[in-house]
Amino acid sequence: MQSASHIKILILDDDTFMLKLLTRMLTKQGYATVSSCDNGVDALKLIDHADTCPDLILLDLNMPDMDGIEFVRYLVDRQFHGSLILVSGEDERMLRTAEKLVHAHKIPMLGYLHKPVNPDKLSEIMKKWEPPSLENKPQPNKKIYRAEELQSAISNHELMNYYQPKVSVATGEVIGVETLVRWHHPTDGLVFPDRFIGIAEENHLINELTAFVLTDALAQAKIWHQSGLTLRVAINVSMDNLTSLDFQDLVVNMVTEAGLSPQKIVLEVTESQLMGADTRIPLEILTRLRLKRFHLSIDDFGTGHSSLAQLRDIPFDELKIDQGFVHRAWTDDTLRAIYDASLSMAKQLGMEVVAEGVEDQNDWELLRRTGCDLAQGNFISRPLQAADFSNWMEEWQNRLRNGLIAGFL
Ligand code: C2E
Ligand code: CA
Ligand code: CA
Repeated sequence: MQSASHIKILILDDDTFMLKLLTRMLTKQGYATVSSCDNGVDALKLIDHADTCPDLILLDLNMPDMDGIEFVRYLVDRQFHGSLILVSGEDERMLRTAEKLVHAHKIPMLGYLHKPVNPDKLSEIMKKWEPPSLENKPQPNKKIYRAEELQSAISNHELMNYYQPKVSVATGEVIGVETLVRWHHPTDGLVFPDRFIGIAEENHLINELTAFVLTDALAQAKIWHQSGLTLRVAINVSMDNLTSLDFQDLVVNMVTEAGLSPQKIVLEVTESQLMGADTRIPLEILTRLRLKRFHLSIDDFGTGHSSLAQLRDIPFDELKIDQGFVHRAWTDDTLRAIYDASLSMAKQLGMEVVAEGVEDQNDWELLRRTGCDLAQGNFISRPLQAADFSNWMEEWQNRLRNGLIAGFL
């Protein structure tokens, strides 16, 4: 594990006096590996080499050639997995807008500093730094997988389900899990679904993939239920799964064979996909599954363009507010407005609401204050292998008992 003093820090500012000043402040605070650049092009060169790529960048927003915002775009292209601190002489509003932009790009931001920089404020923000988690770390090679590779991964059982808990916000009780598939690639290590679900969809492999995920998830659900843990198990269903009525038969048969109740199975479908071109067949399949008492969930709510009327037409039980509108909604008015609207819309339609991407205590407290039903996110638990689930349950119970979760004291 990397200790804080060994964080590789890069300061990028066109003002060389500022570079010296910040370097001195950081060195005084015990950070030994600090480099600096007075322009974006040189900074990107450092970022492009593994041994000089920083863990943290202090970035000036206003620079003459490549400004801070443009620089952030290049960081995104490079899948930079370190953190950022923005430094600027601009006013609070400008800094907050820039912060939102960085967030939208999913680059972790520790905070922003006003010029002239106050050493105490710097030290306070630096304390927030933590090593990037393996879960969020992008794959070093951005290899595009071929359909045949994915096909053989499915056949060779290289895909593996992880499970992320969904807990009741009011009581802390563990209500269910979401199944998230990963590919344990023999040479590339852990590959995340965003890199292969699209390939499965484009190459008619998605039914096979979903069947594989479902088989394992049902077997796991059965193990949990037999041990007295009657968790609701959710799986992600792609729109391409819903193009033929065969899918509905497959799901019904598999659940019946496993001896499970459909009420304990949740099918998550992404909102933006649902609002696509011809949704008649998918809607028919979903409605039929709903009639069989499967739970239906609208995923990533807020990212698509659904209208209230469209929502009324679809018999959903659960609405998942996209993580982009949950994390930091407690402090950001724009996010908060979308979060509030989604929550109240779902409540009016009698749906259960899950907030995704609950990353810290502040997020969790917003959920408690606003009466959100369920929470999911790294604050509660990262997606886990089934074998690690009971250990996590114990830890979670301890956190509740020890009052770590506000409101359970
Ligand atoms: P999703 O359904 O929105 O799943 C939630 C994603 O957010 C997961 O990423 C999860 O690891 C991540 N996450 C959980 N908690 C936090 C948090 O606190 N903060 C942040 N920033 N992220 C968090 P993952 O596992 O990489 O999955 C990405 C997407 O891939 C999923 O998004 C889902 O749409 C898709 N997917 C995963 N498994 C399957 C599957 O079996 N079939 C299909 N069709 N799609 C799948
Ligand atoms: Ca999902
Ligand atoms: Ca989601």
